[in-house]
Amino acid sequence: MKAEKVVIVGGGFGGLTVARMLNGSDYHVLLIDRFNHHQFQPLLYQVALAGLEPSSVSFPLRALFQGSKNVRVRMAEVLEIRPLQRQIVTTDGIFDYDYLVLATGATTNFFGHQRLQQNAWSLKSTKDAISLRQHLLLMLEEADGAPESELPGLLTIVVAGGGPTGVELAGALAELRKHVLWRDYPELQASSMRIILVEAGDRLLAAMRDTSSEAARSYLTQMGVEVLTQTRVMDYDGRFVELSNGNRIASRTLIWTAGIVASVPEGIGSAVKVPGNRICVDRYCRMIGEEHIFVIGDLAYLEAPDYPKGHPQMAPVAIAQARLVASNLLRHQKGKSPKPFVYKNKGVMATIGKHKAVVDLPWFSLRGGLAWFIWMAVHLISLMGMKNRLFVFINWVIAYFTNDSTLRLIFEPMSRNGNTAKNKK
Ligand SMILES: Cc1cc2nc3c(=O)[nH]c(=O)nc-3n(C[C@H](O)[C@H](O)[C@H](O)COP(=O)(O)OP(=O)(O)OC[C@H]3O[C@@H](n4cnc5c(N)ncnc54)[C@H](O)[C@@H]3O)c2cc1C
Repeated sequence: MKAEKVVIVGGGFGGLTVARMLNGSDYHVLLIDRFNHHQFQPLLYQVALAGLEPSSVSFPLRALFQGSKNVRVRMAEVLEIRPLQRQIVTTDGIFDYDYLVLATGATTNFFGHQRLQQNAWSLKSTKDAISLRQHLLLMLEEADGAPESELPGLLTIVVAGGGPTGVELAGALAELRKHVLWRDYPELQASSMRIILVEAGDRLLAAMRDTSSEAARSYLTQMGVEVLTQTRVMDYDGRFVELSNGNRIASRTLIWTAGIVASVPEGIGSAVKVPGNRICVDRYCRMIGEEHIFVIGDLAYLEAPDYPKGHPQMAPVAIAQARLVASNLLRHQKGKSPKPFVYKNKGVMATIGKHKAVVDLPWFSLRGGLAWFIWMAVHLISLMGMKNRLFVFINWVIAYFTNDSTLRLIFEPMSRNGNTAKNKK
């Protein structure tokens, strides 16, 4: 009998888990991603702040399936799904499938605000993290020796969005200011650097318990981050951030972590989408009305008694759904009926700084040093590849004892005469 074809779109947490579980099975598997590597998004902020190398949080997809008899990898962008023909259209041609697993995740949502999109920095990929790192380092270089009047704009960083990414970024920026600024730029006063975290809701880390939100806010405030809740970023022209409270802040750096929208290729009807562009799935993670298309991770929308507004868009959910889909595909080959998805929440966490983290476990919450060690352990274990785990661990140990890293390198493309942004000023 001819092997059935499973095409997986997206080599993130969900898609990669499915591919790994089907490796060695009787399915012919094709894993497609627009990048040639898996990206460990939870640690991107450390790349952006020069705490980790980009290669430590990225893993080449092909390397994972070297020697595999049934899994092939393609670097291509999926443009359209054609459910009737069971085909997908990509930048690399058209591919047929018997089963399609859509795991394209989500992208930054600027809520249609063109000017924000043009001028703010986002953090969804390793590429974004490298660009942001470059920009932040260039701002410091420009500030060094700049006239006093230009310092507020160069040294004020506004982070929009008080979810885990915004909180972790703001905390890490505060640590950079405390430990690194005065060492690398002795002429700059640490106090001249402002970090402002802006959140539209009434508390940070809205997905966590009140006590954890409060603890995160108090850690950030102690670290000198200005936290503004019930405040929105209304506009940004690259020079000034306009806030809903009427304030206008001079800043050359607005980092936007205030929303995501699911990445859906063309060909999926609006009838199966909910706001946020997520695709409605049944209890088996099949797209509504489509027996041959599975949707998992940030892209999927599944209501359950414990999750009346859909499951959270988090890595453990994507991995759990991927495991279910892969095991149901394997059960299908054995003639067994599929099992429904039930999510067991093992906890939510965020780190703010050294010895400062918050962890919500199903029955109780933790904060402080123990929570911080738990956060580090969980992230180390979850990273792809032994080499990456080792490199991240070594970086963290060095940073723990020195409060510094030596990764603040600017690799700006230079013109022939060696000009950089700094000497072009
Ligand atoms: C900065 C940041 C920090 C985060 N921190 C945490 C955290 O601490 N804890 C946590 O649980 N979650 C965290 N998340 C959320 C978590 O990363 C996501 O929930 C998880 O990655 C979702 O997995 P996924 O497989 O659905 O999508 P992803 O992991 O995003 O993978 C999607 C993949 O699809 C590919 N793709 C998209 N569109 C196409 C296309 N058209 N063609 C081809 N390929 C395509 C992308 O390149 C990507 O590789 C964080 C996210 C970000 C951005």
